Amino acid sequence: MPVIKVWGLPSGQTEDDLRHLHRTIVTAVTSIDELGLRDQNDMTCLFPPDLMLYGLGEEIIVEIDGLFAKPERTLEVCHRLAACVGSAIKNLYPKAKVECFITNFYPAQGFWTSAKPTVFICQVFSGCRCNICGGFFADGDEVCASGHQLGRQYAIK
Ligand SMILES: [Zn+2]
Repeated sequence: MPVIKVWGLPSGQTEDDLRHLHRTIVTAVTSIDELGLRDQNDMTCLFPPDLMLYGLGEEIIVEIDGLFAKPERTLEVCHRLAACVGSAIKNLYPKAKVECFITNFYPAQGFWTSAKPTVFICQVFSGCRCNICGGFFADGDEVCASGHQLGRQYAIK
């Protein structure tokens, strides 16, 4: 599931501030229908503290990773996600410069979950790439460079 990390928040954030921020992020992410994420249980939001107070709140960095590559998660959808989350946070912290980075994830890069074994169906991502490993499909080929076959299920344990 996607992990959303917000770095560089102004110091002195209260629990209420953070809950409001959390709700704002969940609303922004779930507004992008193509992601197929329904509520806060479909994502993890983290607000790591910074050890240095100097400069805090001037620049807020949002990292969204662990976003599994799926055909419907096109570049356009990912850009829309970045803009939606970034602008929602900018509204809460209007003085800050806000940047949002999206990283798609291929489970074959290394993934484990304590939840039930997850099955991934091999699909084409981003035009010509395998959603499991990021390898390329040659023109007309149904097997990616790493041997995953389109439509077949692969369990990532
Ligand atoms: Zn592959």
